[in-house]
Amino acid sequence: MSKIALKNVSKKYTVKRKPVMALEGVSFEILEGAITVINGPSGSGKSTALQLISGIEQPSAGQVVVDGKDLTKMTNRELTDFRRKKIGIVFQQFYLDPTLTLRQNMELPAMFLRLPMEMRKQRTMELAGQMGLTDHLDHLPSELSGGQIQRAAVARAIYNRPAILIADEPTSNLDSENLLAVMELFKQIQQAYGTTIIIATHDSNIAQFATRTVRLVSGRVAT
Ligand code: ADP
Repeated sequence: MSKIALKNVSKKYTVKRKPVMALEGVSFEILEGAITVINGPSGSGKSTALQLISGIEQPSAGQVVVDGKDLTKMTNRELTDFRRKKIGIVFQQFYLDPTLTLRQNMELPAMFLRLPMEMRKQRTMELAGQMGLTDHLDHLPSELSGGQIQRAAVARAIYNRPAILIADEPTSNLDSENLLAVMELFKQIQQAYGTTIIIATHDSNIAQFATRTVRLVSGRVAT
């Protein structure tokens, strides 16, 4: 379980020497052990918020506090350690390694865990079963559909049973049946392990799975 708070957070990017405020004075809390959906149109700052929570980016102003620790005060090394130990990420830019099979991709996080071989096999089979990927474990990503790749990315992110699971548009390539399967899996994980789950999406249908929804519009929390 993990408690997360954004306190008066702003993030400014500079594009062609002009400032772009991706987030402006944003404050909200993420409930511990619950599913929070960050909703809003494209360009509203959802991905930026996720990158700040995962410590990939630092805010221009304000604080990002996770379990009482201010991420803006951590060194790069502490941030890397924080990510490896606490966070599972499903981001589009972190999709599967094209040179590894599905099984190898899924088991990448296990390298940090030193999970015994038998346990690893068992966890891979269990997750592959839940995600409908059992018959594809020895395939390369190029031999899989978009939906299968997306489900495998989710499986990899939850492999180590992280305290925090962060997903950026995790259902964007999925048909309604697969979308339901992925969202049900998120729910099962939350209930079984008390995982704090944060999902950014423009899809308003996802809101029904949320314990709480935070809506962003033009880099601000909409009330
Ligand atoms: P969303 O996830 O809701 O689509 P983003 O957080 O990706 O929104 O983007 C919010 C705003 O910040 C947009 O105007 C986007 O162009 C800008 N932005 C995001 N990331 C960068 C970046 N790395 N460099 C410059 N501008 C960025």
